[in-house]
Parts: sequence; structure tokens; C-alpha cells
Amino acid sequence: MLPDRFAMSTSTEQWVKVFNDKAKRRIVLVCEHASNVVPSNFNGLGLSRQQLQSHIAWDLGALSTAKLMAKKLDATLVASQVSRLLYDCNRPPESPSAIPLTSENQPIPGNVGLSMEARQQRVTDYYRPFEAAVAKQVSSMGTPLIITVHSFTPVFLGQQRQVEIGVLHDQDSRFADAFLQQVLTDAQFNIQRNQPYAPTDGVTHTLKHHALPGGLANVMLEIRNDLIESSTQQKQMAAYLTKHIVLALERI
Ligand SMILES: [Zn+2]
Repeated sequence: MLPDRFAMSTSTEQWVKVFNDKAKRRIVLVCEHASNVVPSNFNGLGLSRQQLQSHIAWDLGALSTAKLMAKKLDATLVASQVSRLLYDCNRPPESPSAIPLTSENQPIPGNVGLSMEARQQRVTDYYRPFEAAVAKQVSSMGTPLIITVHSFTPVFLGQQRQVEIGVLHDQDSRFADAFLQQVLTDAQFNIQRNQPYAPTDGVTHTLKHHALPGGLANVMLEIRNDLIESSTQQKQMAAYLTKHIVLALERI
């Protein structure tokens, strides 16, 4: 039981939040696309309210699900507090898609024609504090398992996606392999390796940056967002994933 401690969150910087930073289990959950907040001085990046509430701005349901997972696992969660359209914390500063010009073919007017200084300011203000917060939690735990938690839209560029949970990895597939083997025992969902994205899409930055150099076990979980719309669904998904994360840990 840890409701009191979990309820407290530590704001290391304004744009990143750490939940349950005194976690007992050595797992760091990371939610890079947790928020759709665009600070008011950016005028919504020239997007409509509807666009800023859609999946292009953030991973719908991911933060709520990740918080439930952190609570169930007694793990730490690091979550970005700004929209990925302002700065995508799952991309290194040198990546053009760190500050995307389009998202699912929708132009992002506020990201067009940025000066080097403006780009650098976003790196300084939004990426570096997030990067530092993840690094701090990881180093304080020694050799934790790192799990990044994301959601994806059921229909992308007009294509319906059948996959329900994606288990993604970069060069180190130890935990992904164990997790995929484990969920075979309880196949409630259509679960696929490196779907609907793959490392070649640039989605494994957090894993490469924070896990691979130290040889830490890691995985990226992508959940189809229609499966985590309601709080009941979020609870069910968090329970399913955490159960199999714990069992998969015993396999590595
Ligand atoms: Zn995401």
C-alpha cells in the first residue's frame, strides 16, 4: 500500500513530472508523450483546439495508464508536461522530428521556419530537464528496467491498425523477448513485436539514450488508444501489463 506517497509528485522542473520517486521496485516508467500542453506564448503552434486535443499532440490515455502501472508495480514514472509537437522528448535534439513540421500529414505552423536559437531554446527548456529527470531516476536505482509507455491511434493515414499492443525494442531485446513469451500464456490482445512502429522510425531514442549504454533491460510499450479510453479500460490494461511485466522479469 502506498497511496499517500504515490499521491505526492515531485516537480524537478516545470515541464517534467516525477511520480513515486521513492519506488521500491527497480523499474523506471517513462511517458514522453504524456501531455498536450503548449505554453500560451506559442499560441497553440497555430493549431486548432481540436488538433491540440487529438493524438497528434499527445498519447491519449498513456499517462493515466502509466500512473496506474507505476502504482501497481511500485515503480517510478517520469512524464513530460509539454506536447510532443513543441518538443518530442523521445527524439534527440539533432533529429528533425524533435520539432515536427507535420504530424500525420497535418502541418504544424508554429514549427515552420524556426531559427537555430528558437530550436535551441526548446531543447534547453523542454528536452534537457526531461532527459535529466530520467537520468536521475535511472542512476538512483542502479540498474532498473526501463519501460516507456505510449499509445497510438487506431486509424493512421486512413489505415486501420489491427495490432493492439506493440512491444518495441532496439538492439537489446532481452526484456521484449521475455515479455512476448510471457504474454503468449494469456493472449487477450493482438500483441506484436516492433509494431506499429519500429526502431527505424526513430522511436527508441529513450531506450538507446538511457538503457543501452548501461546494459539496462528495457522495452517500449505501445497501446492502441481505443483500449485505454475509459478509466475502467485503463485499469484493466494496467493490470494486464503489470502482471506480465512482473512475470517477464522472472524470465530474464
Ligand atoms: Zn508516444
